[in-house]
Amino acid sequence: MLDILAYLPAKKKPTPSGWLSFNAVCCQHNGSTQDRRGRGGLKATEAGWSYHCFNCSYTASFILGRTVSYKARKLLSWMNVPEVEIEMLNLESLRHRSIHGIIQDRQQMWNTLSGVSFEERDLPPFAELLTPEHKFYWDYVRGRHVSNDFPVMVQIQNDGIHWTRLHVVIPFTYDNKIVGYTCRFLDDKQPKFISDSQPGYVFGTDLQQPAWRYVIVTEGIFDALSIGGLALMHNTISDGQAKLIRSLGREVIVVPDQDMPGTELIDRAVELGYSVSIPAWPDHVKDVNDAVIEYGRLGTLLTIMAARETSRIKIEIRKKQLVKRIRT
Ligand SMILES: [Zn+2]
Repeated sequence: MLDILAYLPAKKKPTPSGWLSFNAVCCQHNGSTQDRRGRGGLKATEAGWSYHCFNCSYTASFILGRTVSYKARKLLSWMNVPEVEIEMLNLESLRHRSIHGIIQDRQQMWNTLSGVSFEERDLPPFAELLTPEHKFYWDYVRGRHVSNDFPVMVQIQNDGIHWTRLHVVIPFTYDNKIVGYTCRFLDDKQPKFISDSQPGYVFGTDLQQPAWRYVIVTEGIFDALSIGGLALMHNTISDGQAKLIRSLGREVIVVPDQDMPGTELIDRAVELGYSVSIPAWPDHVKDVNDAVIEYGRLGTLLTIMAARETSRIKIEIRKKQLVKRIRT
């Protein structure tokens, strides 16, 4: 396995927070002047490493079990790692498919899709994989019924960007790539989320199984994560999102939040010819995630399928009933 430490500049020193600092190798390739103040940092992560430049802000990371990303390849080439070594690293990494490889396995089916693409983005610089050792975060995520095999991340170290509020990081993936993320803060302050998202992105394509006939479209990340659906991340469907959803080639069932904003989503779903499901959940159950916590995943799926409406007129009737329920 490639030893990245062997390719670092000779002059390097450890920092108290676990970084190895040295003159960054990236800046002159990114339109900045060459670093001479030791502003490049490399840190070992649970299953790889993370690079961060405090001069030009370049970041790259490597996780055993994933393909070597475009940005990591560039970084390694700037460190004068031979191309053949980078290819070897990639092959060896893919032999170690573990939890990190799950995203890629699930994403394979999307490789054939065309016409929808997103640029590669970075996770926050200190994001690390959530494990049971991060008890507080772990309990929160399990409490929201996110399946164990989804790679939720945590960022315990303050990077000066995402504040010091406790949060988990949900990576956005598409077509084998990290294309954004959202930070979900665990206190009661606003905003609850800070995201790096691209226009037209829909979360959760990698949660879909090849054999599934339906795709459930929800508003929130935790709705999607708990039911294996998609998340729009707001209460409408943009044209770009509609294009991506159409590319899945499945029957679409929109399950709106049971509040007034949710009723706007119903109108848009009707416009796009989607099915809509508004199960008659009790008052304290406002969305899919609440329902999964209450009934479990299978129980919730059954309520969604039973309340599925395909005709415009029936959807209108269900919507009126919902509005009446919300108002009383
Ligand atoms: Zn740099």
